[in-house]
Amino acid sequence: MQETVQTPAKKKVVLSAIQPSGTITLGNYLGAVRNWVKMQENEDYNCLYALADLHTITVRQDTATFRKNLYDAYASILACGIDTEKSPFFIQSHVPAHSQLAWILNCYTQYGELSRMTQFKDKSAKHADNINAGLFTYPVLMAGDILLYQADLVPIGADQKQHLELARDIATRFNGIYGNTFKVPEGFIPKNGARVMSLQNPTSKMSKSDENVNGCVLLTDSDDVIMKKFKRAVTDNDAKVFYGEGKHGINNLMSIYSAVTGLTFEQIEHDFDGKGYGDFKTAVGEAVIAELSPIRKRYEEFVKDKAYLAECYAKSDEFANRLAQRTIDKCMKKIGFIK
Ligand code: ATP
Ligand code: MG
Repeated sequence: MQETVQTPAKKKVVLSAIQPSGTITLGNYLGAVRNWVKMQENEDYNCLYALADLHTITVRQDTATFRKNLYDAYASILACGIDTEKSPFFIQSHVPAHSQLAWILNCYTQYGELSRMTQFKDKSAKHADNINAGLFTYPVLMAGDILLYQADLVPIGADQKQHLELARDIATRFNGIYGNTFKVPEGFIPKNGARVMSLQNPTSKMSKSDENVNGCVLLTDSDDVIMKKFKRAVTDNDAKVFYGEGKHGINNLMSIYSAVTGLTFEQIEHDFDGKGYGDFKTAVGEAVIAELSPIRKRYEEFVKDKAYLAECYAKSDEFANRLAQRTIDKCMKKIGFIK
């Protein structure tokens, strides 16, 4: 009888990154980091995560605040459940190939493509005094982050969809000229929580660099602060909990509640039938507190232990450098650079 040899299916490479541009928000958690943890626990994936510090200087940073944010963000991600034994979590600026590949890919990206990026338009309107070239070429650095690791899947919030599409276009273009060099990645956008909006201005997304702190729920907020922010959330005058056109504030609260509890919109509408916004806001606040409070407690432990953080990123950086070097060497050889 012939023996059938089963070759194990190749694990998919998962890559994603977050900027140390402020305290991690509920939006970052529900849109991206929660999936990082789920994917880490899935045997079909090899996950690799990064703190995208090079991206952060596209907006002017105060030196001491930036340095503090780096440690805080690193500790927060560990607190969310990333275990560097399972998924290396490296620091982008510690892997020089990111900067190298960004320059190369800049030469394969068109000005017109970058001009269409909505994040560039939004951020340049917000920082009109500092519309630097880095802000413009941010998506190219991001494409390099992904392509360096030959990533199959990239868990992101909905706001990064356009950048991911561009990364795919750049990879396809490069492969078209030089033959297969980069894996063309797929985005992984969650059904629930992909776009968490500001609690104070529910037509714009919750962002960790937002100056209006009441609009953002932060991973480090105390239970009381979280509840206060939900109680003050901007809503409308209907006083009836339902998902509807133009009800941006309530739609956002329903999306958050659904993402955290797993309830559908129909179930939420049913449960809050005859109840006012006050009850609903309290319920959303409680559900979010239940999710974030254990993370905050772990964060407070991790952030005190700089030696442990350094140990985690040093071994992750080494791992990332090894993988990234292979791709940058291959890419430069294809173009014609000599060793
Ligand atoms: P910044 O304002 O500095 O750009 P940010 O809050 O947008 O910060 P990023 O570090 O740019 O955070 O993004 C990290 C991840 O979080 C990305 O995958 C992004 O898609 C996701 N994300 C960011 N904001 C939201 C949001 N409001 N809802 C869902 N996902 C989000
Ligand atoms: Mg962002």
